[in-house]
Amino acid sequence: MIAPLKPSDPRPGGVPFYIPNRCDDCGGTLVLDPNNEGWLDEFICPRCNNGVYLDMPKKVTDRIRGRRRQT
Ligand SMILES: [Zn+2]
Repeated sequence: MIAPLKPSDPRPGGVPFYIPNRCDDCGGTLVLDPNNEGWLDEFICPRCNNGVYLDMPKKVTDRIRGRRRQT
């Protein structure tokens, strides 16, 4: 399996590669954010819609904290 290296790289099977495919709050299965075109690393919980889960290695998440994309 080839690891997706960029936000625009497709995730194998359309599921998160680096993070658990599970909502922190309700345990539901995450799905790709349907409102997001081009970025394939943003997942949401359709059940409780509690925000965006970024599918990236933790060291990357730590590095970009504080300069997240504005919505
Ligand atoms: Zn949830």
